[in-house]
Parts: sequence; C-alpha cells; structure tokens
Amino acid sequence: MYLSRIEMTGFKSFADKTVIEFDKGITAVVGPNGSGKSNLSEAIRWVLGEQSAKSLRGSKMEDVIFNGTQQRKAVNLAKVTIVLNNEDRYLDYDFSEISIARSYNRNGESHYSINNESCRLKDIVDLLLDSGLGKNNFSMISQGKVENIFLNKPEERRAIFEEAAGVQKYQMRKLEAERKLNKSADHLSRVKDIIHELS
Ligand code: ATP
Repeated sequence: MYLSRIEMTGFKSFADKTVIEFDKGITAVVGPNGSGKSNLSEAIRWVLGEQSAKSLRGSKMEDVIFNGTQQRKAVNLAKVTIVLNNEDRYLDYDFSEISIARSYNRNGESHYSINNESCRLKDIVDLLLDSGLGKNNFSMISQGKVENIFLNKPEERRAIFEEAAGVQKYQMRKLEAERKLNKSADHLSRVKDIIHELS
C-alpha cells in the first residue's frame, strides 16, 4: 500500500485545485520557506482524521480553509482527497485503490467519504486502525514529534508501539464489547426490578 495521489482544493495555501502524484518508493518534497511543504503533510494528516486544529498550527478548524491573500479572495470550502494504492490489500478493504476525502466549510459542516461513498469519520478511523496511518500514526513524523516521543509518558509511548504491533484494534473492540456488556447488565437489572415489582 502506498499513497499514490493527493488532491487539495481550498486547503491552507492551496487555493486552487492542486494534484500531486506519488510513485512507489521515496519522494522528497523540497521548496523555499513558506511554500507549503508542511501544509501538504498537514493535508494528509487532516484527511486521515486529525481533529485537533492546534496540531495543524491553527486555533480553530476553520483555519484550514484558504483565507485569502492580497491578490485572492478567501474561499469557503477546504477539500482534500488522497488515493491509496491497495493492490497488495494491506488495508482490509477489497479495492486496489482507496480514495479517502474530507471537506469542511465555513458553516462548520464536515463531510467524509471513502471511494466516493459518504461515510462517518469513524469509518475512516476503523479502516486505518492498526495500519500505521491513523491520526496518531507512526508513519507521519512531523517536526518536533521525535522529541515528543522521548518526552511522552510511558503509557503514551506504549500506544505508539501498540499501534505498530497491531493490537489497538483489539483493544478498541474489547472496550466496545465491555460497554455493551455493561449496558446489558443495566437492562437486566432493570428487568429484574420490574419482575420483582410485579410478583
Ligand atoms: P518552512 O520551510 O518554513 O517550514 P513550508 O514550506 O513548510 O515552510 P508552510 O508552513 O507549509 O511552508 O506554509 C506556510 C504558508 O501557508 C504561509 O505563507 C501561510 O500564510 C500559508 N497559509 C497557512 N494557512 C493558510 C490559510 N488558511 N490560507 C492561506 N494561506 C495559508
């Protein structure tokens, strides 16, 4: 699996639709200061589900939308689509190409899709769980993150290894199952109360 394409429209400094194709192997993105290299990596993290505006160097999510320059008016919508080549079926999704899209407008409305089908953020998170591509992934090491890994609390550091080892998926399923079990226990106790009242 590898990232084969990204399309950005209205995302940060990419006002016009910008398409970048990637080949297998190593790609280096070079450019002068302020040309948008970090914005490109943030676009990838954003479409993969990043919810923290702060970690995208903004104060609110609206800051990801192109906010105009002296020459150009601001736009109202940011949209990013990435295409993952999944010929090796690394992701558990039976398609050779998977496109994941996210958009956000100034009214605060978000939209997510996988292969052009609308979906919830949770569907994207589930698809990427344990793949190393999740929002707290280990495949995107941004500036300062290496230091953070060393400075993290042991539990936070362990989470990075757990994602790499592929156990997070099972932990999340365990938590979900425990939640359902607790709910069922509550219902059961309520039913017992009713039976007691009736008898
Ligand atoms: P450096 O090499 O200095 O790290 P860079 O190539 O990583 O630079 P970025 O930090 O990605 O550059 O881009 C910064 C530019 O993006 C700035 O000019 C900033 O004004 C612009 N920018 C950021 N957010 C927006 C936005 N919402 N609308 C318009 N432009 C934006």
